[in-house]
Amino acid sequence: MTIPVYQNFINGKFLANQNGATFAVTNPATDEVIYHVEVADKFIQDAAIQSAKQGFAVWSALTPIERSRILLKAVTLLRERNDELAKIEVLDTGKPWQEAECVDVQTGADVIEYFAGLAPAQVGQQQMVAEDFYYTRKEPLGICAGIGAWNYPLQIACWKSGPALAAGNALIFKPSEETPLGAIKLAEIYTEAGVPAGVFNVVQGAAEVGQWLTHNPDIAKVSFTGEVGTGKKVVASAAGSLKDVTMELGGKSPLLVFDDADVSQAVSAAMLGNFYTQGEVCTNCTRIYVHKNIYQQFIEELKSRTEQNIIAGDPLDPQVNFGALISKKHQDLVMSYIDKGIAQGATLLTGGKTLSPESAPNGYFVAPTVFIDCTDDMTIVKEEIFGPVMSVLVFEDEDDVIRRANDTHLGLAAGVFSQDIKRAHRVTHKLQAGICWINSYGNSPAEMPVGGYKQSGIGRENGIETLDHYTQTKSIYVGMSNIESPF
Ligand code: NDP
Repeated sequence: MTIPVYQNFINGKFLANQNGATFAVTNPATDEVIYHVEVADKFIQDAAIQSAKQGFAVWSALTPIERSRILLKAVTLLRERNDELAKIEVLDTGKPWQEAECVDVQTGADVIEYFAGLAPAQVGQQQMVAEDFYYTRKEPLGICAGIGAWNYPLQIACWKSGPALAAGNALIFKPSEETPLGAIKLAEIYTEAGVPAGVFNVVQGAAEVGQWLTHNPDIAKVSFTGEVGTGKKVVASAAGSLKDVTMELGGKSPLLVFDDADVSQAVSAAMLGNFYTQGEVCTNCTRIYVHKNIYQQFIEELKSRTEQNIIAGDPLDPQVNFGALISKKHQDLVMSYIDKGIAQGATLLTGGKTLSPESAPNGYFVAPTVFIDCTDDMTIVKEEIFGPVMSVLVFEDEDDVIRRANDTHLGLAAGVFSQDIKRAHRVTHKLQAGICWINSYGNSPAEMPVGGYKQSGIGRENGIETLDHYTQTKSIYVGMSNIESPF
């Protein structure tokens, strides 16, 4: 069987590179190469900028409602092709079909639909100043760049392109080298829906292609999703031409389970927030603080449900609810954290090993892992692992657990489980995190802004405010009276 080779998507169509460089993409559940992709060389990079300039001129001249109609057609196509796109995400990422079928494409389409609806409603302001007045216009930034992580490839491409395009910008998107196909399919859908050539371009490659985007002076903004360390490099590089930035970075989020919580619900949240997408979710609650009065009950239920209800295997099997990690390298990294947890004195409640399920024996699986007897200074409690590794800690006092939860340079998300409504809100208001859930975990509707405090990010995605992050305000002063001039 011939293995397909995908080209970069520039100016509304596929474009061959000139240096012939390609990279291979592997299915994490089988360890097999599934396709190749051409790298965006200098020829492609120059073409992407030219194409985006032309696309921007056409797209920004449309009215918001005209842009909205086109984007809504893309939303319809995304939903119609849900299964085809979900399968691509399963093969690229190793996540279970069960998830991709109802989350990845749907939540991507939701966000484009949301911003398509908002765009025509974005208004400026006007104010009288004596007899004169001024008014403001919300104008697009120009060419924006999106750089994505590998855990939700299509969803990230939608979350970045939805507001960028709705506001009238052109976008050059670079997916992760691990998962490049979803963005290409989105480009085809935008083109079919009537988005003009050059408005959404996809460039492929690893860090050096990302670096080029962050350096290029023609690009007005970079919206980045990835690790904290890479995010810092992106911000430093973007500073060279004072680009606007949105940074969606990593986390080490706490879940606080008080002794008046519904324990089964809290266990559900802890499992969702550590084992969904085999633990590769930025908002995961990897530090679970449980009140000592319910600790025993909590860990007993957690252990039995983890050992009985998680089914690892071929991610395309609809019964499977736990997939393979993105790469062998990442599997090794996650295992090295597990080794450190053991070496530093944490106790394995369950998991702690690689898996080789019968239906996917060559996949990069790590068993759902729970550590107990953890302390705040352990590496597994301090660093983002980005795999299915949960640390459970015990607390007694409300103020003390808030202090411990906040004792990190990260601040992406947090959760509180308590049936006491006053306590739940009081505690949540003191948590240093951009996204907080009360008696819930992980839901992220298009309407709700998401992003990090501290080193977990800059700016927000989704929600009304994000449209402002893709526009700039022009103030126009109108003189109605004669100019008073001393000259
Ligand atoms: P990385 O930071 O490794 O990579 C993210 C993207 O940046 C990839 O496309 C990568 O290319 C590219 N890149 C790498 N180096 C550079 C550079 N110097 N300049 C510009 N671009 C560069 O993150 P991962 O892909 O490993 O994703 C996992 C991380 O993403 C986790 O930390 C997770 O928490 C975070 N994340 C945050 C989310 C949020 O919304 N807050 C959501 C999802 C994930 P390539 O991969 O091709 O090398």
